[in-house]
Amino acid sequence: MAVVAYAGDSRTQTVENLRAVHDVVREEDPDIWLHADACWGLICAFSERTRTRLAGIEHYDSVTVDPHKVMAVPYSLSALLVRNPVRLRAISSHSDLIMQEDFAFGQVTPFVGTKGWLSLKLWMAMRARGRAGLAASAEHRIGLARRFAEILEAHPRMVRLHEPDLTAVAFLYVPDDVARVLAEAPGALDEAAVARINGINRRLHARLLAEGRWHLHQFSLPDDLGRLRRKAILYPLRFMATNSRVTEQHMEDVLAYVDRLGCAQHEEHP
Ligand SMILES: *Cc1c(COP(=O)(O)O)cnc(C)c1O
Repeated sequence: MAVVAYAGDSRTQTVENLRAVHDVVREEDPDIWLHADACWGLICAFSERTRTRLAGIEHYDSVTVDPHKVMAVPYSLSALLVRNPVRLRAISSHSDLIMQEDFAFGQVTPFVGTKGWLSLKLWMAMRARGRAGLAASAEHRIGLARRFAEILEAHPRMVRLHEPDLTAVAFLYVPDDVARVLAEAPGALDEAAVARINGINRRLHARLLAEGRWHLHQFSLPDDLGRLRRKAILYPLRFMATNSRVTEQHMEDVLAYVDRLGCAQHEEHP
C-alpha cells in the first residue's frame, strides 16, 4: 500500500499538511510507502523562508520534483528522489500487466538505450544561480502570487477561491449584484446562481482564448472553502506567477481585461 500527498497539486498548487499525513500513516502501519508529489512544491525548497511549507517531507519514502516547472530549465526534466533505492525493487517488474501496450515487446521495451545528457541543464542552472539565486527567484515568484491575491481582494468583482500556497491563484469574475450578495453572506449562492457565474466565466474564458492577448487556464474545482456555495463545482480562471518577469502592471492589466470580458458576457446573457 502507498499513500500519496501533494506538495502543490496541479490546479491550485495547494500544499497538504505533509507532517500530519506522515504521522497518521506511520502510526497505522510503518511499512506503508509514503510518496510526496512535489512537482510544484520544489519551489519552496531553496529558501529558508519558504521551506517550512514542506515540513515533514524529509520523512517520506519518495518525492517527485519537476525542475522544468519551477527552476526555469527547458522541458523536460523531472526527478524521482528515493530515500532507500533498494526498496524500489518492491515495485519494479518486467511484466506488461499494467501498461498492456499493444506494441510492447516485454523485457526489451522501451527500445531506447542512448539518452541525452538531460541532467546537464539542471546542473548548469544550479551552478549559474547558486542556492541564494534560486532562493531569491522562488521567494520573488511566491511573493508575486501573494500580491496578485491582494489585488484580487481589493477588486469589487473578483472572488479568490483559496489561499495561495505557491504560485497559482484561482479566481472567478462575478457581476456587481452577486458581489453585493457575497459581501453580505459569503457562500450564500443557490445552485442557479452558481450555474450563472460558471456560465459567465466559461464564456469569458472562451473569449480570452479566441482573442489570444492573455492566457489564463480554466478547470473545474470544488468550492471547498464555500466562497460561492460549499462543495459546488466551479469553473475558475487561474493566474500563475512562475514567470519571474511578471510585473504588477501585468497583474492589473490582465484583471482589467478579465473584468471587461466578464462585464460583456454578463450584458449579453444577463
Ligand atoms: C505537472 C505535474 C506532474 C508531472 O507532470 P510532468 O510535467 O509531465 O512531469 C505531477 N504532479 C503534479 C501535481 C503536477 O503538477
